[in-house]
Amino acid sequence: MQTLQSGLAAVHERIAHAARRAGRPPEEVALVAVTKTHPPELIAAALEAGITHIGENKVQEAAQKFDSLHNRYPHAHWHLIGHLQRNKAKQAAGIFTKLHTLDSLRLAEALNRHLEGQNDTLPRQRLPVLLQINVSGEQSKEGFLLPGDPDNQAALPSLLSDIEPILALPRLEVRGLMTIAPLAPDPEAARPVFRRLRRLRDTLARHFPHATWDELSMGMSDDFEVAIEEGATWVRLGRALFGARHTNANR
Ligand SMILES: *Cc1c(COP(=O)(O)O)cnc(C)c1O
Repeated sequence: MQTLQSGLAAVHERIAHAARRAGRPPEEVALVAVTKTHPPELIAAALEAGITHIGENKVQEAAQKFDSLHNRYPHAHWHLIGHLQRNKAKQAAGIFTKLHTLDSLRLAEALNRHLEGQNDTLPRQRLPVLLQINVSGEQSKEGFLLPGDPDNQAALPSLLSDIEPILALPRLEVRGLMTIAPLAPDPEAARPVFRRLRRLRDTLARHFPHATWDELSMGMSDDFEVAIEEGATWVRLGRALFGARHTNANR
């Protein structure tokens, strides 16, 4: 099995190559190391190896790992990359430094409420969030539905009216969009999905110029190079760094 160090170096190399192919500076692309199903010792090893962003998909699992690591690694950033249930919003607000999967106004309001309730000695004022978009329209996927072509203004009103009130919430800070491409053997199959997310981002930036739309979280182990070519600023990698997950709780 590859060591974590050599795996990490290889991944950084691939990220840099993909960025240069697209004429982008490699520093524009940040890595979230997805540690779901892996034990705290592996996260500690990853943080020692220089990883700074940890991705988890379940609040309960992340909370245990956070509790055992937070004192030792207070500067690690914890990203929630899985669906967040409203009844876990409070717990999530105490752990994560970024939510990639904001997928409804009701969830946004619940989070905002819990963050308002937090006492103000906490340094974090606003929680950075990404809006999850279900670009492919697969029923199994969470996220705001993207109706048709993002350049087609006529298809957008319902999405725009979902998003506008989220932008007004004082304790959340929308930074961009996130999507998960359909599973496919060929990474090229994900390209149109990533491209549509980027074009939707451009459209939203025109409609809501007072908000920040810099960030695109897209690309996993099988398709991250294509995602970078299409503008990803966050790639979320598990298997490419840590090998196969030995569990069926993969997704
Ligand atoms: C598991 C997961 C990843 C990482 O998947 P790999 O294929 O192991 O890179 C990325 N994003 C989300 C939302 C995930 O659930």
